[in-house]
Amino acid sequence: MSDKELTTEKLKEFEQIILKERQASEELIRELDELQKHSLKDSSGDLSSYSLHQADLGTDTIYAEKRVYYLNGEIEKLRKLNLALKRIYDKSYGVCEICGKQIGEKRLHAIPYARYCIECKSADEKKKKKH
Ligand SMILES: [Zn+2]
Repeated sequence: MSDKELTTEKLKEFEQIILKERQASEELIRELDELQKHSLKDSSGDLSSYSLHQADLGTDTIYAEKRVYYLNGEIEKLRKLNLALKRIYDKSYGVCEICGKQIGEKRLHAIPYARYCIECKSADEKKKKKH
C-alpha cells in the first residue's frame, strides 16, 4: 500500500463529509428519541385505555426494542464521527491506529470514521472469528 498522506485540502473535504453525516445522525437520533418519548407516554398514560391497547402491546414492544437498537447504533456512529472529527483537527485523521499506515482515501470515502486500515481491520475480524 502506498497511499499518500492526506493534504490539508483533503482533510477539509473529509471534514465536510463528516460534518454532514454528523448532522444527519443527530437529526435521526432526535427523531428516534422523540418517538421513544411518545411511546413511553402512551404506555404509562391513561390506565382506563390500557386494556384496549393491550392487544397491540406485543408489537409495540418489538417496535420499541428495534428503535432502541437503532438508536444505540446511531449514537455509536455519532460517537465515531465525533472522534473522526477530532482526529481531523489534530491531524491524525486517515492514519491507522494499529499500524500507523495511511488508511487510504477510498476506504475513508466508504467509511469516513474508519480508524484502522483494511489490513488491520480484516486481521482484527479474523481474530474475533477464532474466538
Ligand atoms: Zn493498519
